[in-house]
Parts: sequence; C-alpha cells; structure tokens
Amino acid sequence: MPAKKYFLDLTDLQYKQVKLPWKDKILRFLLWFVISAAVSVVYLVLFKNFFGSPKEKILAQELENLKIEYSLLQIHISNADQRLKSLELSDDSRYRPILDMDSIPESIRNPGYGGTDRYEDLEGYDNTGLMINMKMRIENIRNRSTVQYESFKSVLERTAEWKREMEYLPMISPVNVIYRRGDGVKFREVHPVLGSPQWHHGQDFCTPYGTEVYATGAGRVIFSGWNSGGFGNCVVIDHGYGYQTTYGHLSSIRVTEGQNVKRGDMIGYSGSSGTSSGPHLHYQIDLYGKHKNPLHYFNDDLTEDEYFEMIQTLTSRSMFR
Ligand SMILES: [Zn+2]
Repeated sequence: MPAKKYFLDLTDLQYKQVKLPWKDKILRFLLWFVISAAVSVVYLVLFKNFFGSPKEKILAQELENLKIEYSLLQIHISNADQRLKSLELSDDSRYRPILDMDSIPESIRNPGYGGTDRYEDLEGYDNTGLMINMKMRIENIRNRSTVQYESFKSVLERTAEWKREMEYLPMISPVNVIYRRGDGVKFREVHPVLGSPQWHHGQDFCTPYGTEVYATGAGRVIFSGWNSGGFGNCVVIDHGYGYQTTYGHLSSIRVTEGQNVKRGDMIGYSGSSGTSSGPHLHYQIDLYGKHKNPLHYFNDDLTEDEYFEMIQTLTSRSMFR
C-alpha cells in the first residue's frame, strides 16, 4: 500500500491528500507490474541456470542414487552370470557325459536376444543404453537358468535310473577266487571232458568244492535245476536291461525259480556237477543273447578279505532295503 501524500493548500492553510487522477494510477500500476514481472523472470532464469529448483535438486540426487544402484546391480548380474556359466560347464563336461547324455547345444542354451523392439519403453532417456543392456543381460540369465533347471531335472532322473541299472547289472565276481582262474571265453580245441573242439562261452573259476557262489547283480532267478546241456546244477538270473548270468556245475542250489535276488546274495555252492573235470564254477554273461567276457564286468584285483568285506556290505545293505 503506497504511503499517502499530502500538500499544503495555501488558500486555507490546510494539509490535503494528494489525489492522482485515475489515468496516472493505472499507469503507475502497469509500470509496477512490468518491473516486477521483469525482475521475477531475471530471478527465475538466474536461479534455474545456476542453482536449479529444489525439486530438480532432489531428482538429480535420486538419479545419482539410481546410478549407484545400477552399478551394484551390474556386479550382482556379473556374479550370477559367472555362477551360471560354471554350472553350465559342469553340466556339459561332467554330469551329462558321465551319464551318457548329449550336451545341450549352444543354440538352446543361449538363444540370443532377438529384436530390440521389446525395449521400446526404455528408449529416449539419457541412460537408455545402460537400461537396455541391463534388461538384456537379466533376460539372458533368466532364459539360461530355465534351460539349466530343466537340464538338471533330466540329469537327476537319469541318475536315479542309472543307479537302479547299476544295482541290476552283473558287476562283481561270483566267487572269491582262491584257487585259480580256469578257461575264459575262447575256442577250445579239446574239451577237457568231451575231447571234442568247442566254444567256451564263459569264465571258469577253479574253486574248492563247496565255495559260496553269489549273484553278481540284482535280478530274478529264471532257471534253477539240472541243465542237461552240461552245466549240471545250474542257476540262471535275468537282470533286465538285456543281461542274463549263468552259474554252472554247482554242488547245490540255494535259490528257486521266480525268486528275486540282490547283488551279493548267496545262490549256491560250487561243485563239479554236469560235464566237468573237477570242482569249478562256470560263469557266463549274456547280453541280449550274445556271450560277453565276464572278466570285463568286474575288477578282480580285490584281496580275499576285501572281497568278503564287499559281499558283507552288499548283503547287509540289502537287508535294510
Ligand atoms: Zn566253463
């Protein structure tokens, strides 16, 4: 409110208020308004250029904080990427080859990023490049993790299957050989009893009469009795997966047809029944009807004590299953 102004009226010696005409009042007001507006504009321009508004200051600070967060996130992403790479490497170079599974092709593991259209929403910012790069890396890790998860699932399934298969395959020696190894798989010019030339399709183990004979893998007894073809008292076990084992010339049999056995179960005693020139076990492995060399199916470097320890471990384990 402008101060009131007075003047001395010499006609009656009274102080009277100066009254401006309306025109002057309006002009004064306009002048005041224009000057104020000009000062405000100058102030705003200066403040904006040199100091920034408080809101802008807060936003700038937030942007700085976000940049720091982004840097930390990038470190986390790199760590996750490294860990995933090491899992992928173990999967392809160790687990899958051991389980006889094909490695996963790179085109499935790392299918690429495709178009960049889906990053449209990130376009047009100062940090667009950074944000798109981060998003691509995160999506890449997410896709690869999904593939790795599925791969480990199939590896686990195969491991369980393999473990079961390992229990069934004939994988130990049927006797603790304490005497000597007899004929293996070979063509015999002269059969020790018959005198005629014949193929020998198994491995003979010369053992003292009455030596315990063990099932070499889990399976079902499909023959138990006298074999008129020369094996005398004989046991045949079907292990599944195409495998059958035959134990011949036994002095007595301790299993019956249809019985399920586990690896290390005692199935009978060695002897010299059938066409045999002395106490020994005839042990034969057939895979889908083809004769295999039994010596390729176990490690016979075990000492007598180690062998019995193994048998005890196998049979005691089977009692609790
Ligand atoms: Zn034989």
